[in-house]
Amino acid sequence: MVDKESLQAQLKVLRQNFIDHLPTRLEGLESGLAKWRQSLGEQELSEFHRAVHSLTGAGATFGCDELSDVARELEQQLVSPESAKQLDVVEDLLAKVRHAIQNVEPGDAMETEVPYARIQVPVKGRLVYILEDEEEASRNLALQLDHFGYEAEWFTTAEALSNAVQEKKPSLIVADIMLPEGGQAGINMVKSINAGRGEPIPSIFASSRTDLEARLEAVRAGGCAYFEKPLSIESLIDMIDELTAMEMPQPFRCLIVDDSESQASYYANVLMQAGMETRTVSDPMQVLDVINEYAPELVLMDVYMPYCSGIELASVIRQQPAYLGLPIVFLSSETNRNVQLEAMRLGGDDFLTKPIKPSELIASVSIRAERYRLISSSMSQDSLTGLLNHRRLMEGLHNEMARAKRHGGNVTFVMLDIDHFKQVNDNYGHGAGDRVIKSLARLLKQRLRNTDAVGRYGGEEFAMILPQTSLEEAISVVDEVRAHFAALEHYAGEQCFTVTLSGGIATYPPIDHPGALREAADQMLYRAKGEGRNRIISTNSAG
Ligand code: GH3
Ligand code: MG
Ligand code: MG
Repeated sequence: MVDKESLQAQLKVLRQNFIDHLPTRLEGLESGLAKWRQSLGEQELSEFHRAVHSLTGAGATFGCDELSDVARELEQQLVSPESAKQLDVVEDLLAKVRHAIQNVEPGDAMETEVPYARIQVPVKGRLVYILEDEEEASRNLALQLDHFGYEAEWFTTAEALSNAVQEKKPSLIVADIMLPEGGQAGINMVKSINAGRGEPIPSIFASSRTDLEARLEAVRAGGCAYFEKPLSIESLIDMIDELTAMEMPQPFRCLIVDDSESQASYYANVLMQAGMETRTVSDPMQVLDVINEYAPELVLMDVYMPYCSGIELASVIRQQPAYLGLPIVFLSSETNRNVQLEAMRLGGDDFLTKPIKPSELIASVSIRAERYRLISSSMSQDSLTGLLNHRRLMEGLHNEMARAKRHGGNVTFVMLDIDHFKQVNDNYGHGAGDRVIKSLARLLKQRLRNTDAVGRYGGEEFAMILPQTSLEEAISVVDEVRAHFAALEHYAGEQCFTVTLSGGIATYPPIDHPGALREAADQMLYRAKGEGRNRIISTNSAG
């Protein structure tokens, strides 16, 4: 993430770059006018107009207000061929622009104070220390945490834990309370570890002590949670996930579409400074692909661009059901209210006029991105697992296949189904069944790449889309998930049990229709069940 100083420095560089290129821009304007004067053709006028427009916007962005104002005057003269044909007026205005360019001061003021929209706490790692005097239990807990993507180390004495913390600070401590050293030794140790630390290490206590006193002491020692033994690993890991998630708010993802790279990076810098993540696109023809791949939570869109306007682009985006709700904010030096209204009618959520202050940009973007995140997570996610729901998943498959067809590459589709799940419910209760489903969901989320999509296909069925993944790679990833899942221990009261899953895999090419791909993966899954379960079968291995 950029810090404030480097943002200031980068903005300065961008601005200097803009100023350095002003003579070239001026030459462009002069030759634009010459061509228009010679031909009086529509094409020539439109190119000249665009060049002036771009200067209006960039000038405003980089704090050259006077230049931006006279460029805007010239731009307005060029909106229709009739007024543009008043060549002496156009000449005069261009002379004003030339004058303004010569007068641009390197030190012109520009607001760079950027408020934080969302504090981004650096990732604190996944190192967990366990304190538990029973060696077997301690080792087992560490193993389970490792399965879920944490890096766990276990200790059987308070002193060993204390030494380890001095060597390397963990992200979290899970401590037993009663140790041979005393009935409250775990709490005391955490207290002494945290004494004198500005920021205590988050800790979770586990104990067979159920009395209020123990709980109170745990709270006083700064404990985040208290678990009674026997420990439910699933609930413990849910809690740890929640605690670490709180420390890592995911930054908003914003896509910036602007044919001027310097302006795009200027806005990107402002948003990144506010803790957001950005991607910039300067070729409007690539926007759909980038949206599919990057899944932005907001699009900041320039209005005037070559080949197609931002307004046209917004309507194309809106034609795809999956992006109906994606916020689109237009950013332009266009001040004509009618154009702005038209832009909003065709799918814009807001219209910001350049120059816009960083604070206003951030406010507009973060409010809309936040609302979108809220709405889209409740619409597209399965409530038990937080994974994509069936509809979203199939939309994703259609998009990925269309993309692979355009650009080459492959898409692998995986179906997973928990084995004998009905028996899990029958033997251990529906609640335990739900926890098993959640543990698989968590495992899938942790094991897969960002570009992979995972969804809950139905009750105890899951599906995954792995773009740019060959059948062989997919088999190895999915089989690893299978093995990990089979090794997880689930608890229902005092009982401990394990569960397995089966999977089917199919890939494009050769199967070149989403429905057929899903069908093929399903057939392979059926086969895996028939051949004894706890295995993954692909269209390859099936022959
Ligand atoms: P197989 O190995 O052939 O897949 O056997 P199975 O028992 O897993 O398959 P079956 O499809 O016959 O049973 C699935 C069971 O999963 C039936 C249903 O009650 C249960 N189930 C579906 N969704 C949920 C859920 O959200 N929570 C719980 N606890 N159970 C669910
Ligand atoms: Mg099943
Ligand atoms: Mg089933």
